[in-house]
Amino acid sequence: MKIETLSLTTPYLDLDPIFYHEVHPTPLTNPRLVSFNPQAARLLGLDPDKISPDIVTNILNGTHLLNGSRPYAMCYAGHQFGYYVPRLGDGRAINLGLLNGWNLQLKGSGQTLYSRQGDGRAVLRSSIREYLMSEAMHALGIPTSRALALIGSDEKVARESWEQGAIVLRLSPSWIRFGSFEYFFHSNKHAQLESLADFLITESFPHLAGVEDAYAKMYGEIVKRTAHMIAHWQSVGFNHGVMNTDNMSAIGITIDYGPYAFLDTFEAGYICNHTDHEGRYSFDNQPRIGHWNLAQLGRALSPLVSPEKTAHELEKYGDYFTAKLLELLKDKLGLDALPDDDSTLFRSLFTTMENGRVDMTPFFRTLSHYSGDRSALLALTLAPNGLNEWLDVYDACLQNNISSTQERHAKMVNCNPKYVLKNYILQEAIDLAQKDDFTLVNNLLNLAQNPYDEHPEFERYALTTPTHHTNLKLSCSS
Ligand code: AMP
Ligand code: MG
Repeated sequence: MKIETLSLTTPYLDLDPIFYHEVHPTPLTNPRLVSFNPQAARLLGLDPDKISPDIVTNILNGTHLLNGSRPYAMCYAGHQFGYYVPRLGDGRAINLGLLNGWNLQLKGSGQTLYSRQGDGRAVLRSSIREYLMSEAMHALGIPTSRALALIGSDEKVARESWEQGAIVLRLSPSWIRFGSFEYFFHSNKHAQLESLADFLITESFPHLAGVEDAYAKMYGEIVKRTAHMIAHWQSVGFNHGVMNTDNMSAIGITIDYGPYAFLDTFEAGYICNHTDHEGRYSFDNQPRIGHWNLAQLGRALSPLVSPEKTAHELEKYGDYFTAKLLELLKDKLGLDALPDDDSTLFRSLFTTMENGRVDMTPFFRTLSHYSGDRSALLALTLAPNGLNEWLDVYDACLQNNISSTQERHAKMVNCNPKYVLKNYILQEAIDLAQKDDFTLVNNLLNLAQNPYDEHPEFERYALTTPTHHTNLKLSCSS
C-alpha cells in the first residue's frame, strides 16, 4: 500500500477529553531524513520501496498530515525517582493515530499542554539513540516500541550546549503507561480510571474483554510481561536508566530510551544515568524496581481490583522473573536442560565475569564456539583462575547435554549476539551525523537488526570495549 492512501484511526480520542490534548506538531526548520526503517514500514502494511523520502520527512515534520490523523498528546503522571509527580503527560510527543495495530507517535515535535518548562524538542543525539536501540532490542527478542524513521534539522535546541533538533516517528501497540493509571487514581477520577482500564483491555488485552475479574487478570498479565521484559534486559546486560513509572509501558514493553546502556565489562552495580546518584536504577536494581513500579500500578488500580487480588498477582513476579531469566541463561550457555544446581553455575558466572572485568557480549559470543580449548575465553579475563574454575563446572554441565557440540554452537550463536549497540559505538554514529553524514547511523541500523550475523566489516565493534570507553555514565538531557 502507498502511504498517501492509508487511513489512521484515533480511538483514544473517543475517551473523555481529560485524557488528551489535541495539538498539531510544530515543524522543524530545514528537516532532512536521517534514516528510514523498511522493516517498520512493512509492519504498517506499507511497501518501503514505494515511499518517497520527501513524504516521510514531511510526515515526521508534521507538514503532511495522514488521512484520518487527529494529532494529540496524552495525559499521565508518574513516580520519578520514587517521588510522585501529579501531572506529566506527553510534553514533547504527539500521537498521529493508529494504523495496523500500531500507534504512531512523533517525539520531539514541539510543545503540548503537558510541556511544563520544556521546549517540546528532542535533539539528534538522543533521537539516534532511541531510533537505533528500539530496533536493536526487537532483534534481540526483547519486547519494545519500534521506530519508522528519523529526521534532523537546522533547528537549534538548547541543552548543555546548542544541539540540532530532531524527530523520531515511533510505534507501539499502546502508549499507555503505569503513570496513566496513576494520574486518574491520585486525582480521584475513578470513573476515568475504569474507562482507561477498559480502553487498555480493548486495545491490548482483547481476550480479557467481558471476562470475570478482567481488571485483576489484566494486572496479572502486566506483572508477567514486565517480569519477562526485565529478565530479558538482565540476560543481555541492558540498563534502562530511567525506570520511572511514567516510562513503564502498561503492555510490558521497553519504551522511552534515554540514558540507557549495554554493559561493557560486567559490573552488577553499574549506573548508566549520571543524575542517578543513589543508583536507584542501577543494572542490578532493575528487577526490584520493576516490582516497586508494579506495586504503584496495583495501588492505582485499587478502586477496580481489591488489594488482596493485586497482592496475589504481584507475588508471582519473582517466579516469573527467575524462571524467564534461567531459561534465557540456559540457552545462552547452550545447555539442553537446567542443571540441578543452576544458581551456582549462573551466579558464579557473573561473579567471575565481574572479577575478571570481562566484557559480557564478546564473552558469550566466544563461549558459543567453545569446545574445550579455553585460550580465547581466558584472553577475555583479568582473573584466569576464576574463569578456569567456572569452566570446570561448565564442562561438567555440558556432559549432561544430549545435543552435539556442533548443535550447541549453532543454537548459541543465535542467542548470543555478536553485536550490541554499546554507547561508544552509538557515539561514533552520532558524531558523524552531527556533520550530516548518516552512513554509520544506517549501517548501525543494519547491524542492530541482524545482531547474530558476522558482519566482518564491523569486527572491531564485536571486541571488548576500549577501556577509556567502558561503562561510562550518560546525561539524562535529551
Ligand atoms: P522523560 O524523562 O524523557 O521520560 O520525560 C519525563 C517527562 O518530561 C515527560 O512528561 C516528558 O514528556 C517531559 N519532557 C522531557 N523532555 C521534554 C522537553 N524537552 N519538552 C517538554 N517536555 C519534556
Ligand atoms: Mg518518558
